[in-house]
Amino acid sequence: MLKPCAEWICDKCLGLIARPEEGSIEWLYDEDGKVHSFKIVHRKLFSPIFDKNAHPDEQKHCYHYDRVKSHMDDHLDRFMGMAGVVKLFSFIGPSPVLKPDYKGPQVKDPREWAELYRRLFQPHYEAARPFWEHAETDGYFKGLSESNIYLPETLENLVKTYS
Ligand SMILES: [Zn+2]
Repeated sequence: MLKPCAEWICDKCLGLIARPEEGSIEWLYDEDGKVHSFKIVHRKLFSPIFDKNAHPDEQKHCYHYDRVKSHMDDHLDRFMGMAGVVKLFSFIGPSPVLKPDYKGPQVKDPREWAELYRRLFQPHYEAARPFWEHAETDGYFKGLSESNIYLPETLENLVKTYS
């Protein structure tokens, strides 16, 4: 079982990101400033497929958007703890000091933002994700309220049941 909020599954190679220092978060931004398509991946040096001897243009790694112009990324360890909470919330409710003309969240899809938040901060959510669809079709969530679905004990039990 993954260590809660300390280990992740790479969205590219599906391998283990064993420490926050080994990961990155990447996303895209549109011309209107909206951000979307968040991914948690291995940092280049920790990508299982990384070859440090390859030419930079031909290097293989776990990034999805490395060669996309509207690409942003940041180290996963910078999203840990309260600093991470502050960073994530700046996507949906930036400070009036810096953005007095606020016109809504910077994230294109708040549900996608919530998914990223849960992966980073809700214990056992990352470990439960691979089994989510199976659990859903199995009726595992039947009768549970929205908040009960995401409780750590519900998710931990889901992982134990389906892994
Ligand atoms: Zn990877």
